[in-house]
Amino acid sequence: MTTTTEVTTKTYLNYINGEWVASETGKTGVSKNPARKDEVVGSYQLSSSTDFDKAASSARQAQKAWRKLTGNVRGDYLLKAASIMEERIDDIATAMTQEMGKTFPEAKGETARGVAILRYYAGEGMRPVGDVIPSTDSDALMFTTRVPLGVVGVITPWNFPVAIPLWKMAPALIYGNAVVIKPASETAITCAKVIECLHDAGIPAGVVNMVTGSGSLLGPEMASNKNIDAITFTGSNTVGKSLAQTAVARGIKYQLEMGGKNPVIVANDADLDLAVEATISGGLKSSGQKCTATSRVIVQKDVYDEFKEKLLKKVAEITVGDGMDAGTWMGPSSSQGQLDTVLTYIEKGKAEGANLLFGGNEVVGKDGLNGYYVEPTVFEGVTSKMVLAQEEIFGPVLALMKVDTMEEALEVANDSEYGLSASIFTTKISNMLSFINEMDAGLVRINAESAGVELQAPFGGMKQSSSHSREQGQAAKEFYTSIKTVFIK
Ligand code: NAP
Repeated sequence: MTTTTEVTTKTYLNYINGEWVASETGKTGVSKNPARKDEVVGSYQLSSSTDFDKAASSARQAQKAWRKLTGNVRGDYLLKAASIMEERIDDIATAMTQEMGKTFPEAKGETARGVAILRYYAGEGMRPVGDVIPSTDSDALMFTTRVPLGVVGVITPWNFPVAIPLWKMAPALIYGNAVVIKPASETAITCAKVIECLHDAGIPAGVVNMVTGSGSLLGPEMASNKNIDAITFTGSNTVGKSLAQTAVARGIKYQLEMGGKNPVIVANDADLDLAVEATISGGLKSSGQKCTATSRVIVQKDVYDEFKEKLLKKVAEITVGDGMDAGTWMGPSSSQGQLDTVLTYIEKGKAEGANLLFGGNEVVGKDGLNGYYVEPTVFEGVTSKMVLAQEEIFGPVLALMKVDTMEEALEVANDSEYGLSASIFTTKISNMLSFINEMDAGLVRINAESAGVELQAPFGGMKQSSSHSREQGQAAKEFYTSIKTVFIK
């Protein structure tokens, strides 16, 4: 039985200088539910460069007082926002599921993570920010301290519409920066609900600003706006690299977290049931729409047939439908565009000669629902030369690759321009050590799925997955502050 979800068709406003305001364009965009194509979730502002400029200049003004507050006072605002968000967890998670399709339990888990991120960074306001360094001058004291960058421009994708905005905004704020966020249009309403928590926590006007609308218009405006001192971006490689060019030309700091083509290696000595569970969870949850999603499944030949049989049995049990329905394990792709991309890659896989073992088709969701659903899909006979093994699909598609040895497994795993996350299933310490030492990925996980990120640990990729910076945990401090070396005589 499909639950009927209550859908608000409210119009959400920009948040500039502590006020909810309409765009000067008078235009709005519509956010629709990918699980039910015709269902409108709400509207958001289609803003102009002028709207953005107002937000950036109000942030510039507000940051002057914000940076002077002590860390614990700034932290109190984050703590208050965390408590408010915790009270609204169901409402925010519902908006997330309705806007981008992930199941309600996953959306709730992500919102709870958002609460934890706020609390973690609230604590940062009371932690050390520098080192005392012995001077060669016996009459001097030398130490480092950290200062904020100023106003940080934040651009976020739709796939983690609470966690990513918060893992960028919370550290930016605690270290004394003001922010202007341009969230993904698909999840603008979910972001507005996050900003409401900060507003209701009483954060001073102008310290946080949100401007919604087209990324291709507002993104370049953000990168070139004189009141933006740094840019943090998560999204696709093409967009990230174009932003970086403008940032380099202006000499401002930037940070990019981008795509992945994440492998799992299943060794001869692996616990196969565990490996199957983690491959399915890592590859197919959120319909594969995670930057850390498992995509290439590299299995040693002695266990290949058994692993494949177990995997296909479990994949066949997956229920596809509206993420608000308690019986749904996998929701829809987030949009028509995303669905088309996934189906195109499936066709390319077939044309390249990969063997389609399961799925591969668009489906009607449970109870006849009309959304952007695609079957969980498994290919075998995939080689590194194939598009299926090289390009990020961002859909529920697993590519099985058979290898002889662990050396070959690592070679295949590293044969990608991306290097975000990777996992291995093995019980042998020597395999674990080779994997830790030789796998080119920012996140390596052993006997755990590729898609797992803990907020207190650094997160980011190698190769084309990142600008080689790291987010989250203590690593965030590196991006959101500048080190100042102080010498007192
Ligand atoms: P996207 O198309 O690059 O969009 C990301 C953000 O950039 C959105 O807010 C978008 O706004 C904006 N944007 C679009 N065009 C722009 C432009 N010309 N200049 C500046 N901003 C622009 O990516 P997506 O499809 O939303 O997200 C999926 C990608 O994000 C995947 O590649 C995934 O791997 C990656 N991702 C990476 C991580 C990580 O941490 N490494 C985490 C999650 C996702 P509009 O929505 O208005 O177009």
